[in-house]
Amino acid sequence: MHVLTFDIEEWYNCDFITPDFNWDKYEVRIYSGIERILTELESRNQKATFFCLGWIAEKHLQVIRDIHAAGHHIGCHSYQHELSFRFDRQGFKNDTEKSKKLIEDLIGEKINAFRAPGFSITEKNIWALEVLSELGFEYDCSLFPAAHDYGGFESYGKAEPTILHLPNGAQIKEFPINIHKIASKSIVFSGGGFFRLFPYFLIKRWVKQTDYVMTYFHTRDFDPDQPMIETLPLMRKFKSYVGLKTSFKKFQHLLDDFEFVNLLDADKLVDWTQMRTLKL
Ligand SMILES: [Zn+2]
Repeated sequence: MHVLTFDIEEWYNCDFITPDFNWDKYEVRIYSGIERILTELESRNQKATFFCLGWIAEKHLQVIRDIHAAGHHIGCHSYQHELSFRFDRQGFKNDTEKSKKLIEDLIGEKINAFRAPGFSITEKNIWALEVLSELGFEYDCSLFPAAHDYGGFESYGKAEPTILHLPNGAQIKEFPINIHKIASKSIVFSGGGFFRLFPYFLIKRWVKQTDYVMTYFHTRDFDPDQPMIETLPLMRKFKSYVGLKTSFKKFQHLLDDFEFVNLLDADKLVDWTQMRTLKL
């Protein structure tokens, strides 16, 4: 199963920048970015899940409207891309509820899926999953099932869809990101920096080697004309800008070579009676 998802945020919506959230000073690039993706998907009659920032729903309404009008599944990616563990429980709830409501009011439908910025739900803030269940989310895609700069969720085990039994008695269906081991390091090749870094033949080989792939693409992954943030640490700069010129072509090859579904169709494909459950 290959799940096609996008995180809809601006080119600068990374946790390492703009702690003041004074974003109006930055160039707006989301419209051209989303148009390119939607046009490509439409030409293939391909549906996807788009995890959107509430901030985008507030400032750039047409972006969300266009995604919705094209028949895609819309989820929530927080309000302004703050990492989940930087909130306390109430703060996370307020941020997520605000974002959910902004998106729902705009599209006129309830939303049911969430992905935290930077895979920032870890073993230390399981309460975030409880909050998601309280807010009516059925699906979460926030977990990184290995060690990660932000903590990760190593006790998750194999990267596959799993029903999480939460301490508050609720359940949530988890579709984690899938990882690939290179030496002792766990990397994600299905979006972001490593998708851009590695040649397509390797990406294709790794996709073939696993029966579950969860992608996470961004408009900035395909935007070679985005401004360079000169103040970034060298390594981060490399990771943010490597492979931008060829990444869209690689993305097209990926869609040529494999069948993808959005999260709702992935849910239908899973025989949940056969899947592992995890008690947190
Ligand atoms: Zn993001």
